Parts: sequence; C-alpha cells; structure tokens
Amino acid sequence: MQNFEFYNPTRILFGKGTIAQLADHVPAEARVLVLYGGASAEKNGTLAEVRAALGARTVREFGGIEANPTYETLMRAVAAIRAEGLDFLLAVGGGSVIDGTKFVAAAVNHEGDAWDILRTHGADVTGALPFGSVLTLPATGSEMNSFSVISRAETKEKLAFGSPYVFPRFSVLDPEKTYTLPVRQVANGVADAFTHIMEQYLTYPAGGMAQDRFAEGLLLSLIEIGPKVLADPHDYDLRANLMWIATLALNGLIGAGVPQDWATHMIGHELTARHDIDHARTLAIVLPAMLRVRREAKRGKLLQYAERVWNLREGTEDERIDAAIARTRAFFESLDIPTRLSAYGLGTETIDGVIGQLEQHGMTALGEHQDVTLDVSRRVLEASL
Ligand code: NAP
Ligand code: FE
Repeated sequence: MQNFEFYNPTRILFGKGTIAQLADHVPAEARVLVLYGGASAEKNGTLAEVRAALGARTVREFGGIEANPTYETLMRAVAAIRAEGLDFLLAVGGGSVIDGTKFVAAAVNHEGDAWDILRTHGADVTGALPFGSVLTLPATGSEMNSFSVISRAETKEKLAFGSPYVFPRFSVLDPEKTYTLPVRQVANGVADAFTHIMEQYLTYPAGGMAQDRFAEGLLLSLIEIGPKVLADPHDYDLRANLMWIATLALNGLIGAGVPQDWATHMIGHELTARHDIDHARTLAIVLPAMLRVRREAKRGKLLQYAERVWNLREGTEDERIDAAIARTRAFFESLDIPTRLSAYGLGTETIDGVIGQLEQHGMTALGEHQDVTLDVSRRVLEASL
C-alpha cells in the first residue's frame, strides 16, 4: 500500500427532515449567501425549508448557477459577497452548485486573477469563506470532498481544482429532496458515482485490501439499485442508498493508499466543454473505451473486477476481460445512457479538437502510470466512436 494522508472534516447530516438542523450548524451571527441553480430548489420546497431553518440570520440569495457552473456567473456572486460583506455560504443543489460555491468561497479573498485558481488546479488557494451544502442530487461526491470543476463559457474550457480549504463544513443529505429529480439526472448520478469508484479501483493491484473490497461493495450496490432507483422515484431506502453510495464514492476513503486514474474524467471534461454533453454521459462514453485501450496495463484489476463484481469465472483471461468491459457498457446502457460518441452525432472530426484542448490544458500524461499520452487519448476517443 502507498503512503497516504487522509483528512475529511465534513460533517454529514443525513436523513429525513435534516434541513432543519441548519439552525444548529450555520453560526447564529453569520451573514449568509444561499447559492442555488435554476428553478428546482424553489419548486420542490427545498429553499423554503432552508429559509425557515436559517431563521433571523441575515440572508441573501444568488440563483442561476448553471449545470457545469461558469466562471462568468460565479464572479457575479463574488462581487455580491464583497459588496454586502457576507461571510458564510450555503450551496443548495447538485454538484454544479456545490462546485460553484467552492470556487466562490476561494475566489472572494483571492488576490489577482481568480481564473488562476483553475489554472493552478488550486495550488494558489490560500483560504476560503466557510460554507455548507444542502445536496439535492446524488452524483458527484462534491458534498464531502475538496474538488470543484468550473467552466469558462468564453473560452469553452472546463478545469478542475482542489484545495483543503474547500471542504464543506457540513452537508445536509435528505434523500426525500431527490424525489423530484428527472430520471435522466438520477441515471447520471449512478453513472458518475460508478465511474468515480472505477477511477480509484481499476488501476493496478496495490495491496489495498479494504479499499478494493469497499470499492467492490459500492459497485455491487450501484449495480443492484441502479435500475430500481430509476423506476421508483419515491422509494426512500433506494434514494438513501444512492445518496450515501455517491458520497462514499468520492470522499477520499476508497482512494487512500491506492493508485488513481482520472483519465476518463479529464477526457470527459473536454467533451462537456466542447459539445455540452452531461458530465456523467461523457464518462459512459469514455470509460468502456479506456478499459479496452488500456487493458494490458489494467489486466490484473480487470480480472479481479470481472470475478468479484460481475461474477465472471469461465473462459480465458481475455474472454473474462472482454465480458467485464461489455457488462460495464451494458450497465450504462441499461440506465438509458448511450456509450458512443455517435449517439450524440459526433464522429472522427471531433477528435482533433478534443486532443488539442487536452494538450492546451497539459493533459498529456494522464492515468495511474502517467502514460496516457495524447496518442493514447486519441486511441480511446477512436474506440468510443
Ligand atoms: P447538476 O449540474 O448539479 O444538476 C443537473 C440538473 O439537475 C440541474 O438542471 C438541476 O436543476 C437539476 N436538479 C438538481 N437537483 C434537483 C432536484 N432535487 N429535483 C429536480 N431537479 C434537480 O448535476 P450534478 O451531476 O450533481 O453535477 C455535475 C457537475 O459536477 C459537473 O460540472 C461535473 O463536472 C461536476 N463534478 C464534480 C465532482 C467533484 O468532485 N466536485 C465530481 C464529478 C463531477 P436546477 O438548476 O433547476 O436546480
Ligand atoms: Fe465525476
């Protein structure tokens, strides 16, 4: 096992009716900015519960944070915070609102160009406003991690940053708040969480016994509940399980002391930036192709995955690996998520552009061995046509 440092200070408030507990966790004297997305949080009553819980505190609101939150919109929130002297942020929404809030929290007191936070992937973040979140979409794990992905509309870029300063102080996870999610967003959540686990599990054997078994348990649970959670929006236990699985998938626990990949995510970000495909849907396109192209480097773990996750024990090693990759693709398809670029009307002509963006962003040595060069990324994109 590799050396590691594990640190996760986010308090989780999980269950029915837990939004009321904001009253205990947002400081009484705080001057709060509530950040949210489009209309969903107002429509399903989440914002009303948040307002009630915040009581007499000074509260301002900033709506309109889009899916794949943009720098342009977020800088308007930064200006509002500076103008009004606000000192505590509360994100109400999915990964986009929480990621956006992390950026805003880091940008408020950042000196110089705030886009440098993305350019340096967080290295120049030296502090952030305190914030919490009320999660309405189980998917990204943003509610219990220190990562954020921000887009810049002007340049069609999508970059990630991470900093220990942007862990949420707390996150409220009330599964009932997910009942109003469109089926497509629930499916996206399952696929995003699935891929987060795979990026930390499907690398090479590194002796992390608990990490492996934990990752396999999360994958098996997602496979078991995936189709059911789409079919029945009001099954509390299914929603509760999805919510906690998605959080555990990317809160640092399963990735401690083991190699991590993330090449699928980096290529996926470019597909979202250039072609506006939902984050999770880009992953469903890239992951099966990535596993195929990198099957030799990943051979040991692919065999373990085939056996322990898909119960594939018959046939040659190569047959089992092929079958495991086919099952992965079929799982995404069973969620009604296409796994080919062609499903989005994209063909070979799109590949040069994506490779050019990867190069511009320094994504030239990705993966657990840093051997996913631009040439390998090109082969992955070709395999995903
Ligand atoms: P999202 O972009 O936050 O939300 C997608 C849509 O779901 C929005 O249109 C939103 O509508 C709607 N929605 C949210 N909650 C709802 C509810 N309870 N009922 C009905 N509609 C609801 O989706 P996401 O998948 O959570 O986040 C994706 C972003 O996270 C991407 O930018 C991705 O790159 C990033 N990401 C971050 C991490 C990380 O570790 N930080 C990891 C993976 C991905 P409204 O706008 O109307 O609310
Ligand atoms: Fe993701």
